[in-house]
Amino acid sequence: MNPATTGTDRRVALAGTADGIEQLRTLVDTALDAVCDAAVKRGGPVVAGGPGAAIAAVRDLVRQDGFLTGAPGPDRVGELFEAYATWAADLTHPAAVSRMQCAPTPAAVAAELLAAVLNQSLHSWESGPFALELERRLIREIAGWVGYDEEAASGTLTPGGSISNLMGLLLSRDHALGDIADGDVSQTGLVGQGARPRILCSAAAHFSIARAAGFLGLGRDAVVKVPVDDMGRMIPDEARRLLDGFGPDETPIALVATAGTTDHGSFDPLPELAALAAERRTWLHVDAAYGIGALFSQTLATHLDGLAEADSIAFDLHKFGWTPASSSVLLVRDRARMSPLTQQAVYLNPPDDEAEGYTALLGTSLQTTRRSDAFKIAASLLALGRKGMGDWVDACHAQARHAAARIAGDPDLELLAEPVLSTVIFRCRTSGPIDDESAWNAAVRRHLMAEGRALLARTKVRRPDGELQVHLKLVFLNPATTTAEIDALLDDVVTAATEVREARARAGAGRSAPGAE
Ligand SMILES: *Cc1c(COP(=O)(O)O)cnc(C)c1O
Repeated sequence: MNPATTGTDRRVALAGTADGIEQLRTLVDTALDAVCDAAVKRGGPVVAGGPGAAIAAVRDLVRQDGFLTGAPGPDRVGELFEAYATWAADLTHPAAVSRMQCAPTPAAVAAELLAAVLNQSLHSWESGPFALELERRLIREIAGWVGYDEEAASGTLTPGGSISNLMGLLLSRDHALGDIADGDVSQTGLVGQGARPRILCSAAAHFSIARAAGFLGLGRDAVVKVPVDDMGRMIPDEARRLLDGFGPDETPIALVATAGTTDHGSFDPLPELAALAAERRTWLHVDAAYGIGALFSQTLATHLDGLAEADSIAFDLHKFGWTPASSSVLLVRDRARMSPLTQQAVYLNPPDDEAEGYTALLGTSLQTTRRSDAFKIAASLLALGRKGMGDWVDACHAQARHAAARIAGDPDLELLAEPVLSTVIFRCRTSGPIDDESAWNAAVRRHLMAEGRALLARTKVRRPDGELQVHLKLVFLNPATTTAEIDALLDDVVTAATEVREARARAGAGRSAPGAE
């Protein structure tokens, strides 16, 4: 009897077997039907009802005979699929413009399914012989894209831009402090080093830089924020001034440039910062998590001039790139700089096996068991092509420009700045009575979410008088969205703004108004 048999009516086979594949076909059909049905049920980018309704939806599912402890069966799996799909934020919906989270290509998703069925890993040769070589090949090729020497460069796929940044800064730490300590920091640790490490990044840099400094034992206080211009771009002269002002014990570990800031999508001036880093013999790490999209575009690529000068580059293909998370890349210009990650394990990659070619990627990663993210990226690129990716990036850029023009021409909306990549920052304004414009804008966003009408992002912008003001943000990552859909979305924002303002006026100070929670 098959050990996976739990009873003649409830056989669960392993996915890669003939029986398992038949079960999988049925389950995939169920899953895809759930996705189609969900789009109809939702009617918008998310189900109406807000957090309370989502909690209730999970509660409803759990209640049915004990959920995970109840009697198992394919019907119960189907119910889970249906609830998950229904309550998902629909990234393909034209009014889903809040997060840097793309809808992936079918080829990438199919590869993800195959990757899960075969469940390869990269930590020893026999855990995934082809997957290993594919990642090596992909890293080489992508290194060429950014202008690195493919032979000299190295890198790895990681679970996200935050981790790619962490890894880039880890390598910069060990490089800078290893020089000073004349040794291996990952061996000796930081205690007793004496040096006060410093990481320079712009005031608009992603929070993952400061978190990484904390994780790496440098402390968040090691991060020195360089002032930015009104588009959130680092001012190189300010970086130079800060470096000049360091005391003798202050050791610059890395200069971090952001290519594609989270709000404006603006690019720190890479050529100037590369020159400064070279002059000071300081590691240049470029956070291009979002801005890498420019690389694929004929017209936007010049934003990334100078990128090849970076010692390390972090970027996501689960933003621009249209592959499912996680699809993040860390590239390192000089493969020797990856050495702090080296790991030999007697049971995984002993030297005599490695000498015979049985090598793996244990020593490029923070992880041991590691999924093959290169596979879906390769599949997506083969289906779409680099040119196709570029066309999609250009389409998203054009959408942002259209939205900006539409906002600039609307008396009820105020555009903050022309879009650089595919984000648009604006706010609702009014000549009518309003007590607090920031609270009102924030409430408009929640109102649209709670009603399942639109998913927008928000941020804070410093006004000339120094006060921080809530603004709304659109993030375009769906190349299929039409200008008519963008116009309809912005009309709905204006409608919602009026609804919230009137409700707040009725409710006095704004308590218990829609979306004012
Ligand atoms: C999104 C983003 C990150 C974080 O990337 P994750 O993949 O979400 O971890 C870091 N930096 C910038 C500039 C980003 O836009």
